Amino acid sequence: IERRSRRAGGRPISVSFEFFPPKTPEMEATLWNSITRLEPLAPKFVSVTYGAGGSTRERTHATVERIVKETRLAPAAHLTCVSASRDEVDEVVRGYWAAGVRHIVALRGDPPGGVGQAYEPHPQGYASSAELVAGVRRVANFEVSVSAYPEKHPESASFETDLDILAAKVDAGATRAITQCFFDNDLYFSFLDKVQARGIDVPVVPGILPVTNFKQAVNFATKTGTYMPSWLAGRFEGLDNDPETRKLIAAAVAAEQVFDLLDRGVTEFHFYTLNRADLVYAICHLLGLRPPREAGAGQAAA
Ligand code: FAD
Repeated sequence: IERRSRRAGGRPISVSFEFFPPKTPEMEATLWNSITRLEPLAPKFVSVTYGAGGSTRERTHATVERIVKETRLAPAAHLTCVSASRDEVDEVVRGYWAAGVRHIVALRGDPPGGVGQAYEPHPQGYASSAELVAGVRRVANFEVSVSAYPEKHPESASFETDLDILAAKVDAGATRAITQCFFDNDLYFSFLDKVQARGIDVPVVPGILPVTNFKQAVNFATKTGTYMPSWLAGRFEGLDNDPETRKLIAAAVAAEQVFDLLDRGVTEFHFYTLNRADLVYAICHLLGLRPPREAGAGQAAA
């Protein structure tokens, strides 16, 4: 289905959704309720993260495999090269191809000792994300997406280093970058300018984290070096004990961010769902996306 948004001047809109592999049967039920709810919106792909250091290797694989078997969605499996030899990584990649997966989100991953430690590649492993991208492409003709950091990676000395690394990943075969979440759209657009000036010509899709729990978002932003604008704190002020209002504000804030991106020319969005569907579903609805039975009615709704 092609969905066009009036607000985007009739240009097609596409979305993708990110999930994490569940740890418990309850979390699995939540995830699958969310997948079932979001599936009719026909995302371009849905991605499943890989726990730090490969800690969710089996669970990521099982979730991706279930998506292949039980849905019509195109899954993308996240993969890192932390603490694994090339052979081990290649075996995981071959397993994905055999299971029908055709898209990998290739990442270096955080240092095995944790964020803040120096990154030490496995002695027989892929030494960088660019090497991993090349390795994945050697195994089979996967579509490969990679990360990008509008506010610089926390380890990065400069934007130049980040852009060199992004360029190396694209040279190695990546065809899309997905950004770390950000709350100040100006930072995203100024990063896009830098990417373009560097001659990197793959789409750099904004990663949108709809904030429902402001305190959690602040913790996350502190870890990732994401700028938390004071107006955003203001929106959630005084609502710590008022989850109902918080939910409404969360939807308004996320819509504000997404509409501003749309008005400034963005038509592809990646949503960090945190395995919850409601807020993301509502934002997609505002973007004009509808389940197929309403597709005619929903076109150009935004
Ligand atoms: P890269 O893009 O290779 O590098 C990131 C930055 O690190 C560079 O821009 C540079 O500043 C610095 N750097 C790296 N190598 C060098 C070098 N040789 N010299 C100097 N500086 C260097 N983590 C997970 O564990 N599992 C996931 O599923 C996962 N999914 C993610 C999805 C997205 C969209 C994003 C944005 C991040 C995700 N991460 C995930 C987090 C990611 O693994 C960490 O941010 C990690 O620290 C960097 O991995 P990367 O592939 O982004 O690194």
